[in-house]
Amino acid sequence: MARLRNTKEAERVCSFCGKSQDMTRRLIAGPGDLFICDECVEMCSKILSDGDVDLSLAFSAEVPRPTEIKAYLDQYIIGQDYAKKALSVAVYNHYKRISQPAGAQNDVEIEKSNVLLIGPTGTGKTLLAKTLAKKLKVPFAIVDATTLTEAGYVGEDVENILLKLIQNAGGNIANAERGIVYIDEIDKIGRKGENVSITRDVSGEGVQQALLKIIEGSIASVPPQGGRKHPNQELIRIDTTNILFICGGAFVGLDKFIERRVVQRPLGFESDTGETRTLSSKELFDHLHPDDLIHYGMIPEFIGRLPITVCLEELQLEDLKRIITEPRNAIVKQYQASMAFDDVELQFTGEAIDAIAGTAIKQKTGARGLRAIMERMMTNIMFELPSVRGQKRVVVTKDSVEKMKSPEVYTEEQELKSA
Ligand code: ADP
Repeated sequence: MARLRNTKEAERVCSFCGKSQDMTRRLIAGPGDLFICDECVEMCSKILSDGDVDLSLAFSAEVPRPTEIKAYLDQYIIGQDYAKKALSVAVYNHYKRISQPAGAQNDVEIEKSNVLLIGPTGTGKTLLAKTLAKKLKVPFAIVDATTLTEAGYVGEDVENILLKLIQNAGGNIANAERGIVYIDEIDKIGRKGENVSITRDVSGEGVQQALLKIIEGSIASVPPQGGRKHPNQELIRIDTTNILFICGGAFVGLDKFIERRVVQRPLGFESDTGETRTLSSKELFDHLHPDDLIHYGMIPEFIGRLPITVCLEELQLEDLKRIITEPRNAIVKQYQASMAFDDVELQFTGEAIDAIAGTAIKQKTGARGLRAIMERMMTNIMFELPSVRGQKRVVVTKDSVEKMKSPEVYTEEQELKSA
């Protein structure tokens, strides 16, 4: 009898936020199977004491305008102008949609606008999503699609994506319900067969099917400890209707699918002289059509849930040079700030910056490779200099970058001698 009561108690969840009994201080029972937790009671009391304040409108006043979002992104992300604009609009529309007063008698229902980011590795896809979340002050989670598998296979259930978001929202389900999830490597869960670059197992299509539900909006049940769901386990309920999903992937080889399609109608791409010419990768992506993604291995229903597609451009030498020095947390600024703790003044010659950017271009890692290049060059001095007394000056030159050797160090004594 006692065991029976325990099981029943374990199943109790707050009917408002979905938290289970042991995640709350108090769970107050209502009629039938209805419960409310102490946090929701507190929130209701706040709403009542604020009079007739329409919380959704209050939130709408807080949503920054697209120009403001873009200006914020400009501080952190170099280039990718179109992507920044498109994302600012998408995000603004998303939060405008969710701030519509509940139950508003509106004939026009604005559809959810999840986003698909396509671009080579290290071009700023994750950074864009992360910076957006920071600007909007909403919970944010990054997940890797390749760790997910459809039910029945070894791996994580797709609902674990939501667990990360809940954890990053400090357990506050209501906040998590208007957060942003970035799903990386989405191209790796393509259907087998159509996609020549696929290297993993057959469950890609199953994962896409499983993701569909949570991306389009549903009440999901999440195991609080992660991993696989099992019977009799208490689950957190979370509504994904207002969560913005941004999926990103490199989609290597996708340009070939676009080319194959557009080259069947070469007329549109004749130059003024009547000659057909090959299109650059950027031009090809301007002609991207959902069918190309379906040929690549994504299922039509999944692509249908990501109505906004944004292509990012490959970063050029000039972009990389700016990335090294300009953003608010540029890599050079980070090293300078960190080494200043040890009385080190860190300087870079212009040629050194060119050489770092050039090395990253050769390695084809986009901006992602910049830190590794710096780290390799700086490790020795970062190891030794904290033990050297007094002011020090370190000058990174083209030579230190190209030969991957430690930059020159000038101590206070040397500087005095040479003065
Ligand atoms: P991916 O496109 O593979 O998701 P990331 O966004 O993870 O690339 O980029 C890796 C790192 O490279 C970022 O943390 C950032 O430091 C740098 N980076 C990439 N693209 C840009 C960009 N356009 N502007 C500024 N920094 C960038």
